[in-house]
Amino acid sequence: MMPSSFKEIAEALRAHQRFLVLSHVRPDGDALGSQLALGLSLELLGKKVSIWNEDGLLDKYAFLPGGERLARPPSTPEDFDIAIALDTATQSRLGTAANAVRSATKWINIDHHFSNPGYGDLVLIDPISPATGQILFELIKDQSLPLNLAIATNLFVAISTDTGSFQYPNTTARTFEIGAELVRTGVNVGQISQLLYESYPRRRTELLRELLRTMQFEANGKIACFTLTAKVATELNAKAEDNEGLIDHLRAIQGVIVAIFFEELSDGKVRVSMRSKSESVDVSAICQKFGGGGHKLAAGARVRGTLTEVQDRFLQATCEAINL
Ligand code: 5GP
Ligand code: MN
Repeated sequence: MMPSSFKEIAEALRAHQRFLVLSHVRPDGDALGSQLALGLSLELLGKKVSIWNEDGLLDKYAFLPGGERLARPPSTPEDFDIAIALDTATQSRLGTAANAVRSATKWINIDHHFSNPGYGDLVLIDPISPATGQILFELIKDQSLPLNLAIATNLFVAISTDTGSFQYPNTTARTFEIGAELVRTGVNVGQISQLLYESYPRRRTELLRELLRTMQFEANGKIACFTLTAKVATELNAKAEDNEGLIDHLRAIQGVIVAIFFEELSDGKVRVSMRSKSESVDVSAICQKFGGGGHKLAAGARVRGTLTEVQDRFLQATCEAINL
């Protein structure tokens, strides 16, 4: 698949009328921020735009400008000129949102996962970009697409959340330059960061307390993991979005190289979330062995089996990967 240029993508955006902007299930800040940023920019170009996500707009991201534009997919499929998948490594991760597309003349795939196989008619994958929001910023700037404060704020959220607030090694000088430009456009860093990182429901910290009770170390402290049973999740009335970022508490421990979070799902599968602190331990490769994927330092999978089975298999594979 030949990668598409910014120019080719922008030409397709300008030439058509009916757009659908999608992203992955269990969306994070990069997924939702990217969807809203591109959706709002297309609206300013005078396009008819639908913005769907299987999970809708999470409460946590309700403050995103234009958030009310983000809807769950309808039950009756609709027709579009262009459907755009953002931040979505495989088509299957679009979930039910993809079933609600009856027809689309073209699919555009914009992403930063190196494991993305390049599905779609126009493909823009930049694995060096720490966030899909960063690719969108470059596209918008390069092709003079509309950019206002609402769009800038969504891009800032996308980039801030996928870089761990400009901390992870994927953060480059260019990321800070883009951050500076977004702030110059009017983004209020203090306010947005407080909404993102200091406005969690109490429930989330109660969930963390339960997770820490299950904390376990392997390989002389190089691997740390915790688990969430469906029972505890129900008791706490935990929402899927409460999980986001909790794994960072394991990653933050000195000596830990790989952090793993096992979550029992209701469908007989376990959701596995992995983080690595070393370029030499590629957690995406581990997850790919189990049908998942992601990035070298942040990856995930959904695996059939009981919590104990899946945990044993992943701990073994991780021990092998860190050469023990
Ligand atoms: P998280 O642990 O935050 O859910 O996901 C970390 C990274 O792994 C994200 O970039 C996400 O796209 C990827 N990822 C998470 N779960 C899956 C999965 O089930 N399949 C694939 N292919 N990638 C996943
Ligand atoms: Mn992303």
